[in-house]
Amino acid sequence: VTKRFPVRSVVPRRGGGRRMVHAVENVSLSLYPGRITALVGESGSGKSTLARLLAQLHPLTGGEIRLHGRPVRPARGRAFRAYTREVQLILQDPFASFNPVATVASTLRRAVALHHPGTSRGEQDAVIDDLLRQINLVPARQFTEKYPHELSGGQLQRISIARALTASPAVFLADEPVSSLDVSIRLGILNLLRRLTEERNAAMLYVTHDIASARYFAADTAVMYAGEVVESGPSEAVTQRAAHPYTQLLISSAPDPSRAGAPRVRDIGQPPSLIDPPAGCRFHPRCPFAMDRCTREAPPAFDLPGGHAARCWLYADTPEARTRRAQNAD
Ligand code: SF4
Ligand code: MG
Repeated sequence: VTKRFPVRSVVPRRGGGRRMVHAVENVSLSLYPGRITALVGESGSGKSTLARLLAQLHPLTGGEIRLHGRPVRPARGRAFRAYTREVQLILQDPFASFNPVATVASTLRRAVALHHPGTSRGEQDAVIDDLLRQINLVPARQFTEKYPHELSGGQLQRISIARALTASPAVFLADEPVSSLDVSIRLGILNLLRRLTEERNAAMLYVTHDIASARYFAADTAVMYAGEVVESGPSEAVTQRAAHPYTQLLISSAPDPSRAGAPRVRDIGQPPSLIDPPAGCRFHPRCPFAMDRCTREAPPAFDLPGGHAARCWLYADTPEARTRRAQNAD
């Protein structure tokens, strides 16, 4: 899929023409039932935009979304509600996604009523009790009669997961679901999401800037840079045998508790503007292995063993690429 936004600017562009933000460019991503796919990248890499595109919160500029193998048509109104029954978005900040002046019970009842029209209040409450039990918030009454600000971030994120479950979705899109939460409770929420994905045989896109959590949590990982997926494959391969220089950089600059005290963050420069992204490989201004062609031609995705792929000229079958690859392996 592709998404470009017009740049809102008060300064007219010389020579006319609208400047566009190339937020997501020709990204192809597959999600599978019962499987978690991590989408990893720095802030501004386009990963939240991609999640919102998949949730149909923005129209696509190009490409298509398929659900259960069938192309999805842009949906509004009732068709959009039907789509949200299948595809649920879980956001980073649970406080921002709840009405602050409504009790949790009334928010959840609205969600149940939306996805199960015609249910009585008693039936809605039974559904809510059951969902809260599934996410380990018991006794339910202790939580449902509260307002969002009376709950902790972790409790409210569990409740937002319960709200997503009212729809029985086939796909969860979880956009940094734990990054606003205290470190001590992140693992519990991730384990909950994993259990629900498995029990319900749902697909999950787990959006994160934390590549270490991708390895722990997700079967597959896609790495996004400047609006493009630059590497993808089984998480084990992507994190243990990272092929793309950007993935290697992400891994080497990630905090690693086992290397406490060691220099952690290399100077990796800044991600590019998506308004006029660099020509050729978008990573070339930051890449220690950049070759001539990298500045001119955008690399295709090269297949590596085991369902692993990298969008990088190092994997082309040329003498120069072989030499550089050897340097990269040192
Ligand atoms: Fe570096 Fe070239 Fe590979 Fe881009 S294509 S990551 S510039 S080696
Ligand atoms: Mg984001």
